[in-house]
Formats: sequence, C-alpha cells, structure tokens
Amino acid sequence: MAFMTNYIFVTGGVVSGLGKGITTASLGRVLKSKGFSVTAVKIDPYINVDAGTLRPTEHGEVWVTEDGGEIDQDLGHYERFLDITISKEHNITTGQVYREVIEKERRGDFLGKTVEVIPHIPDEIKRRIRNAAEKTKADFVLVEIGGVVGDYQNILFLEAARQIKFDGDNAIFIHVGFLPVLRHLGEMKSKPLQHSVRALMQTGIIPDFIVCRSEQPVDDVRKEKIAMFCNVHDKDIISNPDVENVYELPLIFEEQKFGEKILEKLNISAKGSDMKEWRAAVAKMNNASGIVKIGIVGKYFDIGSFKLADSYISVIEAVRHAAAWSGVKPEIVWIDSKGFEKNPGKLGDLNNLDGIIVPGGFGSTGIEGKIAAIKYARENNIPFLGLCYGLQLAVIEFARNVCGLKGANSTEIDPNTQYPVIDILPEQKKIIEGKNYGATMRLGGQQVLIKNGTLASRLYGKDRVTERFRHRYEISPQYVETLEKNGFVMSGSTPDGRIKQIGELPKLKFFLGTQFHPEFTSRLTEPNPLFAGFIKACMETQF
Ligand code: GLN
Repeated sequence: MAFMTNYIFVTGGVVSGLGKGITTASLGRVLKSKGFSVTAVKIDPYINVDAGTLRPTEHGEVWVTEDGGEIDQDLGHYERFLDITISKEHNITTGQVYREVIEKERRGDFLGKTVEVIPHIPDEIKRRIRNAAEKTKADFVLVEIGGVVGDYQNILFLEAARQIKFDGDNAIFIHVGFLPVLRHLGEMKSKPLQHSVRALMQTGIIPDFIVCRSEQPVDDVRKEKIAMFCNVHDKDIISNPDVENVYELPLIFEEQKFGEKILEKLNISAKGSDMKEWRAAVAKMNNASGIVKIGIVGKYFDIGSFKLADSYISVIEAVRHAAAWSGVKPEIVWIDSKGFEKNPGKLGDLNNLDGIIVPGGFGSTGIEGKIAAIKYARENNIPFLGLCYGLQLAVIEFARNVCGLKGANSTEIDPNTQYPVIDILPEQKKIIEGKNYGATMRLGGQQVLIKNGTLASRLYGKDRVTERFRHRYEISPQYVETLEKNGFVMSGSTPDGRIKQIGELPKLKFFLGTQFHPEFTSRLTEPNPLFAGFIKACMETQF
C-alpha cells in the first residue's frame, strides 16, 4: 500500500495560552516512543509573514530554525520534545497564505477564474500542510491551529482541516479546552469547554478526543458530562493537569494510553513503546538536588514575570537541560540591566549568583547596564555566558576597559563611535539600505570552526559544529588583532576564518560568548555542550 500520512489536528478552546504547543509536542513524543516518525506544523493566524518582526514582549521568543526561519516559539517546543529538526515551512501564517494566492493570481496561474476566499485559501493551506507531510514522509503530522475556536482569524484553517479529512486523508481531531475552577464554589466547570466544542462542531469538525487543561485532573463525573454533551466517549477524554515540569506531560499521556487510543482510531497497530530514556531524563530533572543560581541580565522587563519567561524560553530550557544533566536545580534570577544604570551599587548583588547569562537582544535600552554587569563578572571571576548580543557586549567591555579603546561601541548603538568594534555585517548593510526590514538578518544554522586547545573545543569535543544565528552585526575584523593581543581568545569562526563567532577569556573560571544562539540546539536528553560547561563551572563556584 502506498505510504499514507496520518494528520492529527489540534484545536484550542475557551482561552489562549493553554499550553496547546506543549500538549501537541508531548503527544508527538508519545507517538515517537511507539516507533513512528512524527513531525509537527504550527498555524499562526496572524498576517505577519513570519515572527521576525514581532515584539518578544507581545508574542514570546522568536525561534530560529536550522533553515533560517524566524518562527513562533511553539516550533521550539516541538523540536525539544521530538528531538528533530523542523523546517520553517512548518509554520503557516495567514500572511504567507494570502501572499501566495495573490502572487499566483498576478502570475496568471488562475487565468479566467474568479479567485475567491473559498476554495482558494483553504486549497493553499492544504497544499502547505500536505507539503510538510510529503517532504518529511512522517507517519504522523501534528497540526496545531493557533488561537481559539470561535475566533474569526482561524476559521479558514479549520475549514482546510475539515476538508483534509473529507478528501479522504487519515485525520483525527483533538480539541484542547480549559476547565476553570471557580474559587467561591471550589468546583471545576465544564460549560465553557462544552460551548467551545459546539463552536468547533459548527465548522463541521467533530473532535475525536478532548484534552482537558485544568489545575487538577478531571474526575469521572465531569468526564461523563463532557462526553454526553460533546459527543465524545468518556475514555477519549484526556486529563492534562498543571505540572511542575512540562517534560512530564508525555508520561501523563502515556499513563492514560492516549497514544494507543489514537492508533486504535486510525487502525494502526502499536509497535510497543519505549519511554525509558525520556522517563530517566525527567526523573533526573525532578530528583536533582542542590541549586545553582543563574542571573539572566535582560531588558524585556516591563511586562511582568510571566511574559518575561516567555521572551527567553529557549535560554531557560537550555539552562534546565544542562542543570538536570549535572543533577542540580536552576534558580533563575531576573535582573533588569537598567537598574545598574540608575544604581551601580546594585552590581554587588551579582556576587550572590553562581553565574550570569547575558542573552540576545536589539537596540540600546539597558545596554550600559549589561556592559557594567559583564565588567563585574570579568573582574570578579563570576562565570559568564554571553549569547549573541551578550558576546558583542563582552567585546565592547573588553575593548573599552582592557584594550583602552575609550568609547568603543557597536554601530547599532552609536553609529559615530570612534571604535566600532562591533559593526554591521557587510552583506546586511545593503539589505538595510533597501529598507527591507523583514529580511535583514543572518539567519539559521551555519558552520562554526572551533579552535583547538580552547574552552569551546574542550566542551564541544569537535572542530566543527553547526549552530543557529540571528544577527545583523559582527565583531569587526579590524579589531580582532587588538582584542587577541590583549588576551581575548577567538575560539570559533566562520569556516573561512573571516568572522569570529566565539570569544573567551581563558584565565577565568568560565567566560565565553557566542555570536550564535546555542540555546536553540539544546535538548532534554542532550544539553548543548556550552550550557553544560557553563552550569558545571557555576557549580564549582559553590564548592
Ligand atoms: N543586535 C545584535 C545584532 O543584530 C544581536 C542580535 C541578537 O542578540 N540576536 O547583531
């Protein structure tokens, strides 16, 4: 029989921010553990063509794919849970879909026809979903439809999903809904969920499973009620309660035989299940003892701590993976760099930390505070990891305070600086001049040559690695010699040696910065080596 993909559509109900991404990723992990190949697609109903121009404070982190896409953070969850590399084509937005249809119309591809929302928009959506299936040849393609059922925005995506099943493809529908507990009643309410299922049914989709997001697992009484009102058997109602550690969710699904039930619906025989490695990694994380205190010196602080964690989600996950690997629990301390600018005395607080991370960023807000924190880390031998902007600021600090280049800066911050130690990549200059802001970054996986005998080389254990980039500026080649002469070791570069990609100070316990974002390649079962080394160094400061 010809190969046939199984599509699993995941919709959301009641509220957004339910953890649909984690639910989808966890389900993928369960199916993968049964010996199937799995991939995932995320649908974002906004008009932006990609997430590159979205503000992290509004939408969370921008995830960078190996093939250079700037995508919604859910793709990061999929990669971390499924331990696969996912193409940017697996993110579909309304903007992409309409753009393609309009371009086709202009090219004359529909000559003579009236181009209409129906059928042309769902047709293009289906083409994109099927394209992901054809290219990956995955047994299962999970398709998460962003937003909540009942939104105007995702209606055409729901229509495309309905049609895929109607066209004869193997497809099932999973609806993830929220069950609030009203405090004054102390009771879990299922009515909003029932209404969201009704809204889903109006689109012609009947869910095969309902996943209940709630504080506590749903009880049998409520399951029966939901089953009755939503036309879904009670055995197909799955609990998805709050968990301390999101990596537990695949295990919670496995306990409820969620994977087997899906296979049964699709008439596929199970191939056994192997969650041993995952279970062991989760246990290691949960049983970790001892704490490392990691300060993240950032700037997206004006939005409350919940959103803050979202803006740096991959950095946090990479820290968690590395800490679990070493058997410790991380305590993340958020540090607003602007505070150091107003009150330099606060820098002393950094002594209470085991290590600091200066993550990526853009623009000039809070920059001097970050530079002051890096100086403090260097002078007080506090382990430091700089990610992208973090490396660039470490270079600026070193140039100013060690090489004596007063006022050294990045041209991103001060275009007229006397010492532009960080300058725009020549190839990006042209693009920016053309005001094409949607495409001005050096993006995606690129090879990095690692210099022998350096900390980077000891940690990676290889002389060539691929890591992901998202930047417009670089360490100016003109200043490399001065920096090196003063002790800044350039331990990574592009294969042609031209652009330096990693810098370190070997005399210190751990002081390393990367032009790329190692957080994007970290996995629960395989932490990124640089994060692993950083956490080890942080632990050593304690003992
Ligand atoms: N703003 C810097 C650049 O564009 C750093 C980018 C980042 O941290 N991702 O080069």
